[in-house]
Amino acid sequence: MPTSSFGHRYIFVTYDVFTKFVKIYPLRNISSKLCADKLVRDYIPTYGPVTAVLSDNVSEGKGIILYKEFTPANKWIRKPDRLTSSEWRLALKMTVNICPLRAIPGRSRDRKHCRRCVSEIETLGHVLGACPFSETLRNSRHHRISSMIAEALRKKDLTVHGEIHGISQEGSCRRIDVLAIPPGSTSAYIIDPTVRIEAQEQQPADSTQKNAEFMSPQFPSIWRNITSPPLK
Ligand SMILES: [Zn+2]
Repeated sequence: MPTSSFGHRYIFVTYDVFTKFVKIYPLRNISSKLCADKLVRDYIPTYGPVTAVLSDNVSEGKGIILYKEFTPANKWIRKPDRLTSSEWRLALKMTVNICPLRAIPGRSRDRKHCRRCVSEIETLGHVLGACPFSETLRNSRHHRISSMIAEALRKKDLTVHGEIHGISQEGSCRRIDVLAIPPGSTSAYIIDPTVRIEAQEQQPADSTQKNAEFMSPQFPSIWRNITSPPLK
């Protein structure tokens, strides 16, 4: 997180699986010892003894580097103006991967598989990114984000095209979400928003490279199609 005026840079989130009570501790540094210290010196004396401590098993500070790179994405934690308190709590739980899903230890009584599609383990990544039951929601979220990006670029005077179809080398049809040309430029930005659960620090770079490899054979056909009307 951005450093607060008291020098806090991290938050340690505790979540009671049974009562759903969430307690957040701001920390100046992060280590398992400091987290344990909060539990022993504050949480347990205040709220009573705990039967078991479950951790999401993430490595230390995972996701923090991605947060640090672009602080506006992190602003909602400190200023949750547009979120109700339950949405804010849920968003925090999603951030630290302690949403009440079946894959979280202690949640599932029979098996950990998705209670909708039953094909995969019910992780947050599956529910948000892969489950066929959330596909419509996923598509509308993707469309909303593409439109927001297109709108922001248009305000910066770029010529923006949306939903451009290209043909790949094998002849199959491919689609580009947003293509933006800076004023007077002969090159363009291709933006393909993908909403994913943060899994590792390298993830954004890896997706960018994968997309570039995937898109480059289509460039000639994309340019032919660029006469399509700009995104509304
Ligand atoms: Zn599913």
